[in-house]
Amino acid sequence: MDFSPKIYGLVGYPLEHSFSPLMHNAAFKRLNISGEYRLFQKQPEELESFLINLEGENIYGVNVTIPYKEKVLDLDFIEIDRTARYAREIKAINTIVRKGKDLKGFNTDIAGFLRHLNKISVDPLNKRIALLGAGGAGKAVAYAVAKKGAREIAIFDLNRGRSENVVNMLEELFPDLNAVAVDEIEQLNIIDKDLLINATPVGLKEDDPCLIDEDVLHKDLFVYDLIYNPSPTKLLSLAESKGLRYSDGLGMLVYQGAFSFIYFTETHIPYVKIVEVMWGAIDEALKKR
Ligand code: NAP
Repeated sequence: MDFSPKIYGLVGYPLEHSFSPLMHNAAFKRLNISGEYRLFQKQPEELESFLINLEGENIYGVNVTIPYKEKVLDLDFIEIDRTARYAREIKAINTIVRKGKDLKGFNTDIAGFLRHLNKISVDPLNKRIALLGAGGAGKAVAYAVAKKGAREIAIFDLNRGRSENVVNMLEELFPDLNAVAVDEIEQLNIIDKDLLINATPVGLKEDDPCLIDEDVLHKDLFVYDLIYNPSPTKLLSLAESKGLRYSDGLGMLVYQGAFSFIYFTETHIPYVKIVEVMWGAIDEALKKR
């Protein structure tokens, strides 16, 4: 009989910044569920063969991160699960579960982000939003704030096609929302916005610049950076120095991770308990730093 733990993990590139193994492995251990979570750092040309071969490697599920959240749906052997309504609507997944030979995709970024906004008392209803980045995560947060009744969203991405794609998706699903893709960061018109969200990878590297000009950060703006390591990013430090309310993406990470953990393991342990264990593990690790 094989008693080796089921393997799960995170596929993306680069991955050094990730806290996912820490929180998933703590959950396996403390909730007494057999499993092990690893990092699978893969180059674009390795992605397809890695995913095709999950069964051969005893891997039962993976989270997908930068830059592959949309790319994985180009692979015809991965299907969005029929119950995964959000993932179907936005066509981006961050969680793949293997059942035998079948690979099913889910999106937990949307629910994770919304849980965190709720926790920090940020309500997108009627808000005007500026969004940097229209990749897999940008698309998920754009959908999330639209779903919660945002009034206006302006999106900037280096890749204009991506921001237009997100705007098209939003226009189709939320006809009352005013959504625009802009060509320059300045056209985000942050001075007139309530919420600024960074969903680009700019800030992951310590020497990354701050994309936003200090002068546009006004006192009523809430700044949310999806990056959680390093934290604070230059953007968040700037927000802090100007006395703005802000958050990094650690809460989103934990809330989305707990949803993924349930998809992976099909555990009936309550979601809040999984969140508590994951937060606990991260808090302990951060205290030791
Ligand atoms: P992604 O799919 O690669 O998308 C990032 C997008 O940002 C790409 O379209 C990229 O364009 C664009 N971009 C890069 N530099 C830019 C710049 N200077 N100005 C404007 N746009 C720029 O990555 P992702 O999966 O969406 O992740 C984005 C970030 O969110 C990452 O830092 C990731 O770690 C973070 N994230 C955090 C959580 C969490 O739980 N806290 C969850 C998901 C993601 P190019 O491809 O042309 O460079």
